[in-house]
Amino acid sequence: MGLIVQKFGGSSVANAERVMNVARIVTDTYAQGNDVVVVVSAQGDTTDDLIEKAKEINPDASKREMDMLLASGEQISIALLAMAIEKLGYRACSLLGWQAGFSTNSVYGSARIKKVNTERISLELSKKNIVVVAGFQGLNKYDDLTTLGRGGSDTSAVAIAAAMHADRCQIYTDVDGVYTADPRKVKKAVKLNEITYDEMLELATLGAQVLNNRSVEMAKKYNVVIEVLSSLERKPGTFVKETVKMEKMLVRGATKDSNVARISIIGVPNVPGIAYKIFGKLASKNINIDIILQSVGRNDTKDITFTTSKDNAKLAVEVLQELEVLSNLKIEVDAETVTKVSIVGAGMETHPGVAAKMFEALFENDINIQMISTSEIKISVLIDSKDADKAVEAVHDAFIPDEK
Ligand code: ASP
Ligand code: MG
Repeated sequence: MGLIVQKFGGSSVANAERVMNVARIVTDTYAQGNDVVVVVSAQGDTTDDLIEKAKEINPDASKREMDMLLASGEQISIALLAMAIEKLGYRACSLLGWQAGFSTNSVYGSARIKKVNTERISLELSKKNIVVVAGFQGLNKYDDLTTLGRGGSDTSAVAIAAAMHADRCQIYTDVDGVYTADPRKVKKAVKLNEITYDEMLELATLGAQVLNNRSVEMAKKYNVVIEVLSSLERKPGTFVKETVKMEKMLVRGATKDSNVARISIIGVPNVPGIAYKIFGKLASKNINIDIILQSVGRNDTKDITFTTSKDNAKLAVEVLQELEVLSNLKIEVDAETVTKVSIVGAGMETHPGVAAKMFEALFENDINIQMISTSEIKISVLIDSKDADKAVEAVHDAFIPDEK
């Protein structure tokens, strides 16, 4: 008995039947004696379709107008879900982001939540309503609509859970939890009962698209335990929280990210200050860098290679070509054939030999490593994209106990 925040993604409310299914989950929770706040995304591919509609008219539309348009998707879902709840004989009240008290900064298209004033939500709960809130949106200081960035309704749900000290924050989706690898690709992938915020953040950034990154950051900051579970099957999901039992799992997940480009600058002068100039310049243009490799200097020159996301590759090269010290140097770009494969696990911090075991698994599958990077809880390698699926499976199976 308490306050439960439940969030349903686009696929969970994609059509009338799915909306009714969600209404049943929500009203069952309410009937058990809980206060329920539901956050929903736009139905199915609505957000993508709206973006397409905008492009037909003006591919360079201002971000303010894009947000005005995109926020409409969630308005449809909240009204439909509230109607579905009414149909099951319960009281519901739908609220847009601003009505639910979401204030954001003014960065249209990827606004950050500044505050949630939950008075209206509390009022509706006190009137025995199930409150249905539009995810992904808020209001800025000019009273204009903003959106939180793609996948942002996870963050809306966590923000409400944090602001209202909810007893549970459940994120319903079309998979039944967080797996050790993509279960469609890796036969031995298993569902995790729990995972830490830090592990989840690494997996989210690395491309395991279960939870939006910002939502996990916010959950960590405010210590909101998130439960990821399926809207289609009623069974336990995965808990995302600060600490979890280590069990026998050193590695909690293996994943790949093909949104990577590798850029190499060949023959840069072997003198102090070059790395500073290169990465300072890239940083000034907000280009995020991931793995960096510098070769040992020979004959007064060295090579510097780094990776960034595919969409940044072109800009990165342009920016580097403007640098005086690099003029006349060869800059090679590979944005087509490289993929980053990673393993993540809080346990590796205290256990030697994890990297060696990963490299052994790759070697046994004849997979060549181009670059390596490590952090306390993650090891990543850059490899040829054609080997990516095989690599994920190989490293996964090397670490994850076979439960099947
Ligand atoms: N509807 C928005 C999107 O598709 C927000 C969300 O789904 O969380 O990105
Ligand atoms: Mg969506």
